This record gives sequence, C-alpha cells and structure tokens, in this order.
Amino acid sequence: MLMLMLMQTSLAQTADKLVIAHRGASGYLPEHTLEAKAMAYAMGADYIEQDVVMTRDNQLVVLHDVTLDRVTNIAEKFPGRAREDGHFYVLDFNLEEIRRLDVSEGFRSSDDDSGNNGSGNNEPTAIFPGRFPVGKSNFKVHTFAEEIEFIQGLNQSTGKNIGIYPEIKSPWWHRQEGKNLSREILTVLKRYGYTSATDRVYLQTFDFNELRYVATELLPELEMSIPLVQLIAENSWQETFESNADGIAQVYDYSWMHEEGGMQEIARYASGVGPNMAMIVSNDSSVEKLEVSTLVRDAHQAGLKVHPFTFRLDAGRIPQYAQDFEKLLEIFYFQVGVDGVFTDYPDRAVEYLKDRAKSR
Ligand code: CA
Repeated sequence: MLMLMLMQTSLAQTADKLVIAHRGASGYLPEHTLEAKAMAYAMGADYIEQDVVMTRDNQLVVLHDVTLDRVTNIAEKFPGRAREDGHFYVLDFNLEEIRRLDVSEGFRSSDDDSGNNGSGNNEPTAIFPGRFPVGKSNFKVHTFAEEIEFIQGLNQSTGKNIGIYPEIKSPWWHRQEGKNLSREILTVLKRYGYTSATDRVYLQTFDFNELRYVATELLPELEMSIPLVQLIAENSWQETFESNADGIAQVYDYSWMHEEGGMQEIARYASGVGPNMAMIVSNDSSVEKLEVSTLVRDAHQAGLKVHPFTFRLDAGRIPQYAQDFEKLLEIFYFQVGVDGVFTDYPDRAVEYLKDRAKSR
C-alpha cells in the first residue's frame, strides 16, 4: 500500500516538473535566436525563455546583455558607436540598425581584457568551444513581439500550449537611461493575451525593487495578474543596483533572501524564485554527501515555486557531486524537489523526465 502511494506520487510529480529552455536550446544554436527557440519547442520544453532589453526607439528586443558585444558583429558594422567604456549598448541603436547585425554564438574578441587568448591574432574566442561555431550561418535579432508570435504560432500549428518566460533585464539601469522597460514588457504581454495568473507565462527579474513595483503598481494599473519570479543573484555578480539614501548607486544586497522570513517577504509579490544551483546544493558537496540548503524548503513553505539555473552539459559545468547530467537532474528534481530547471539542453531534461515516469 505504501509502495503504491509512493509510485503514484512519483508519477504525478514527474508530470508537474517543468523544463525551461534557457535562452532557447542554447546549447545547440546561438542563444535567443528564433532558430534556438524552434529547436527548444520541438524538443518538448514546457517554457521558453526571453531576455528582454530596449532599443533607442523604445522597441523591445530579445537579447541577454544590455550590450551587443558578445553575440553580434556590432564593432564591425558600427565602428565608433561604442560608449567611453568601449561597449556598444542596445539602447544607443534603433531597431532598424540592430536588425542589420549578424548574431553569433557567444565570443570574446581577442582585444578584450577578459578573453585574450594570447594567440596574437584577431580571431574571436568562443565562450563555449564545443557549441555552434562562432560567426557561422545567418542569424538575426528579433523583437519580443515577434518571438511571442512565433511561439503562439507554433502553439496553434501543433495544438500545444508552450509557455513564455520573459525576463526584465537590468530595469534599474534602463530607468537611469530614461526607459521604463517593465511597462513596455507588460504592455506587449497584455496585447498578446498574457494577463491572468493561469496564463502560460512567468515574468522574472533579478531586481526586487522592480518586482515590487510591477506587483503593486503596474499589474493593478494594467489589470493583469500574471505570476512573477524573483531571481536570486550572488552579490559578487553585481547583477543589480539600487540608489542609496544619498542617490549613490550601490550593488544590491541579496543576503536577506536567504535569512529567516526572506521567502515570506518575496512571496508577498512573487509566485516563484529562480536561484543559482549552488544556493541549493553547495558546490562543496561530494557524491557521498550532498550539502543542501534550506532554500527549497523555505520557498515551498512560503508557497513559492523554485526554478534554479543553469543546467549545462558543457565541459566543467556539471558539479563534482553529480556523476553525470541525468544524476544532476535527479538530485534537483527529486532529491531536493525543485519545480523546474532552466537548462541550455532542454532535450536531455525532457528525456530524463519521460524515462523516469516510464520506469516507475
Ligand atoms: Ca535570463
């Protein structure tokens, strides 16, 4: 009797676990291209992620960085248009200009301090050498609306209902530049029918001040109630900034989220959290002994879903405590009990969950 109950629980659990395609099937095709989104869709992901930033002419485009340096040929196409820090910002270009760029698998240029490969030539260095080759084939930047139409179009032609998972990128920075990114994103979401708590969408951001603003001001004003996800960064990443009492920018301190009552505070505004994997299972863990934090337990007690990032197959990206990628998924989905994972390899997570449901 007990065995049967366990089996039923396990089957139900497997069906509830989400696979979120991180920037599309980005392990196989350049991140955030429509090609990478099509592949993720075909692989059976439950949700497909969009990172959203704004152009000079207030258009929303799907790109991970607020700069164009890492994944486009901007330096070649628009020399002299970098800011003083040497970077080319999406916000300094109109959509029409950005559409003229070629998109590539991520790279570092050889004159970049962080990526000097020491070879003395001008060849860009791939950030993930085993992935799609840098600078090959023909990929373009598209708008947020175009990606929604793409996924909704596939939902119609396949009869499925795959969700979207947009991220408000660096909202504080956009505001410094005079742009209200969140308002634009919500306006587009509403136009395409994502308005209620049961629609197939999660809206995520690393910026808690922005999340609270979206939850308490924008959503009521726009008569929307879509679920929000608070992403959790390490302070050392310098992912989020806020102004202190004197109006000085300072790095946001995330430590309260891991303390007593932190998850309850987040749950006042959000439906879920997106932590880094290492915030759940310490990288000091071994195969024999996992060191698991209270984050998932605390989040679940507060009624929050937990969707950690980023599950990768690339060399050196599987933590030492997991023998292989599937074991890593097993640990997170079923030993720790997360509700979904962000992965660059959605096919592997989909297959893993299917196999597990069959074998029980
Ligand atoms: Ca993201």
